Amino acid sequence: MEDKKDIRSLEFCELEDVFSKLGEPKYRAKQVFSELCRGKDINEITTLSKPLRAKLCDMFKCELPTVETRLVSKIDGTRKYLFRFSDGQSAESVFMKYNHGNTVCVSTQAGCRQGCAFCASTKRGLVRNLEPCEILSQIIGIEKDTGERVSGIVLMGTGEPLDNYENVIKFLHIVTHKDGLCIGARHISLSTCGCVDRIYDLAKEDLQITLSISLHAIDNETRSKIMPINKKWNVETLLTATKDYFAATGRRISFEYTLISGVNDSKEDAKAIVDKFSQIFARSMPLHINLIPVNPIEETQFVPGSKTRIFEFQSILEKGGITATVRRTLGPDINASCGQLRNRAQDQDT
Ligand code: SAH
Repeated sequence: MEDKKDIRSLEFCELEDVFSKLGEPKYRAKQVFSELCRGKDINEITTLSKPLRAKLCDMFKCELPTVETRLVSKIDGTRKYLFRFSDGQSAESVFMKYNHGNTVCVSTQAGCRQGCAFCASTKRGLVRNLEPCEILSQIIGIEKDTGERVSGIVLMGTGEPLDNYENVIKFLHIVTHKDGLCIGARHISLSTCGCVDRIYDLAKEDLQITLSISLHAIDNETRSKIMPINKKWNVETLLTATKDYFAATGRRISFEYTLISGVNDSKEDAKAIVDKFSQIFARSMPLHINLIPVNPIEETQFVPGSKTRIFEFQSILEKGGITATVRRTLGPDINASCGQLRNRAQDQDT
């Protein structure tokens, strides 16, 4: 069994340690880190001597996944990828073009253990965590394939990022480092279904990322039905954690709210959000809700409500002092939201 670590999972300071132990000059770390983040293999870094390259290859793996599927939207240029790792596991990622730059949605786990009722990624449970290099390699693979720079990241693909905490934090350190891809933390959003203990840990990390909370229901009965994690940490505990996160970091919090017809999209639901938010949050706290019409997946009956119903919901929130936007659907012709491509590929494998 090969149990070498992948060199791209090393943070900059860890790479510095490696070279220092090898008796190499300090600038090596910078040189190698920068080339690896641009997708070069150890053996392609020809500024290193052959013996040094051989030594690094002895010590570490250096692998990039293959692009198994690439779907390109003819409507807006959104691209959806399925990357395949050497153990056969795969990760789905989406490349989105916005006026302010290119954003990539990355996966953090192969599968997910959280069991949200409307989500395709969790239907087959968790297979394994992705390593820091495997999260990073989705961005490297996309930059290579498109020839374009990525300037923003959302951790909203398959997986619960806070269930893979250490690897996700390492990935964030690597991807934001000035000698690597140097993606500004302020252009990175991490989305969680509500792992409250980890939200408190994250608040102590001194990262300038945006935290995004998957809320999806405001009353505990409904939320527990569609999001099992609510039985562990209920709505009030979760909202208090987000308030504390804001107090500790000063970073704006945003909420995701997937609108499912007849489940969580009534006028009363919208009013209940306004009431609950005003009980828990100070008026000065910036609050933003992204409304996402549910993307129907196989195996469930969930459908979005009518446009009128969605805009009514939005208007009640806005009147209550909460900024709410209805998420624009990108890549409608390639079914760009995550989870479904990976499931389909697994079906073909078995
Ligand atoms: N586990 C994390 C991140 C992955 S999901 C989280 O729960 O936040 C990213 C977002 O997509 C979440 O808000 C999730 O609830 C939402 N989502 C999942 N399946 C969806 C579907 N079928 N339609 C609309 N949004 C969905």
